Amino acid sequence: MLCLGCHAIGHELLCGTCRRQLVTAGPRLIADCIVARPAFRHEGLARALIHDFKYRGVVRVAALLAPSLAEFLPAGGRLLVPVPRVVARHLRLGIDPGFELARAVGRLTGMPIARVLRPPVWRANHAGKQRRRRAAVAFRPRAQPPPGVILVDDVLTTGATLESAVRALGPGVVGAVTATGAGV
Ligand SMILES: [Zn+2]
Repeated sequence: MLCLGCHAIGHELLCGTCRRQLVTAGPRLIADCIVARPAFRHEGLARALIHDFKYRGVVRVAALLAPSLAEFLPAGGRLLVPVPRVVARHLRLGIDPGFELARAVGRLTGMPIARVLRPPVWRANHAGKQRRRRAAVAFRPRAQPPPGVILVDDVLTTGATLESAVRALGPGVVGAVTATGAGV
């Protein structure tokens, strides 16, 4: 198979040289109550892999990163809840990265997946004089899940998306894992 990073022929999803370029990220507190654990820093090769995953539909990136997410699953977690992509983007880009990651982690760990977050249809932009700033995504619950929810998302940036997910699902959330994190 081809290395997802440098496209050299080999036996693994990522060759040793590329794997050594991934940098471990630190945890971050979300909504003052749960810890989000990104697997890698959102820079360099990790950033390129996530770009291929989110915008070019390279689904194998989920299988590549899943073992690293699985390492960070919090104690007390019983089910994986993917943070869904805004509907309009999912339709346009043909992939829901949070769900693909959750599915890959679920395959590894045997943990069930519950798609209980309802995404907004599109993401509004705040019209500004100089620049447009993106509004935070607001999720609604489809159902109230049992305790032990682990949120699964692709990239942790400001944390606003995960905060919205925590608000929607309430105290049953015990933690979050993401593929990469910016500024962590
Ligand atoms: Zn490589």
